[in-house]
Amino acid sequence: SERLSGKKALITAAGAGIGRATALAFAHAGAQVLATDIDEGALASLAAEHSAIATQRLDVTRADETAALVKAAGPFDVLFNCAGYVHAGTILDTDDASWQRSFSINVDGMFHLCKAVLPGMLERGKGSIINMSSVASSIKGVPNRFAYSVTKAAVIGLTRSIAADYVARGVRCNAICPGTVKTPSLGERVRALGGDETAHWQSFIARQPMGRLGEPAEIAALALYLASDESAFTTGTTHVVDGGWSN
Ligand code: NAD
Repeated sequence: SERLSGKKALITAAGAGIGRATALAFAHAGAQVLATDIDEGALASLAAEHSAIATQRLDVTRADETAALVKAAGPFDVLFNCAGYVHAGTILDTDDASWQRSFSINVDGMFHLCKAVLPGMLERGKGSIINMSSVASSIKGVPNRFAYSVTKAAVIGLTRSIAADYVARGVRCNAICPGTVKTPSLGERVRALGGDETAHWQSFIARQPMGRLGEPAEIAALALYLASDESAFTTGTTHVVDGGWSN
């Protein structure tokens, strides 16, 4: 049978990039997917791609929206917390607003999603939570990713803590730590740098030992594994998928 048949999955930031690739991978593997994002146009085009994908607008910074959505649409077997915001800069480039925005989207959002979904998982004695961290975290110091890396390190702590608390109650919690992945937001960051876009792409690629960036589908494959019962013995872990960048 299919790898995710009978499972209901909630995904944040599913409109683009890794979240979108994962929504499609989960649906193709037999899951019922509730894909959420703040970009309703992106959600509409995603829903058109597979009949097992339902969509709803969700801003992860809104704890009230999160609670209402889970109450109405839960319980879920799988939660993929994919939403994230990349602030570029050193500590000296980081003002309070950028710091708070980084935490609000990358950490507070995840806290509220996990807290909303966990009771339904515990009640049924099963569930898999997958949290999007990054190699830029407690794993590797990356220049100009100060606030981002602090929040992604917090995601690893959040993940391991939840895993420890519920390890005997059927709920698993794991983190994914990608290197540089070719997604729309990376394209936007390249455009925002201004000047020679080809040169900026080359500099992203130049730091890759494999000589290429990752593809969203390569991260979705790991999320699918962690969502499925194939990974039943795996919890509290941080999975690096970075083409050897942090090695
Ligand atoms: P992306 O930028 O391509 O897509 C992001 C999506 O998030 C968009 O559809 C956007 O509308 C949505 N979004 C933004 N703010 C939101 C909010 N408040 N609530 C809900 N949705 C919101 O994304 P991506 O590059 O695939 O990144 C996804 C995750 O992967 C992020 O957590 C990111 O930090 C992480 N990550 C990405 C890379 C990379 O190189 N792309 C590397 C490591 C980790």
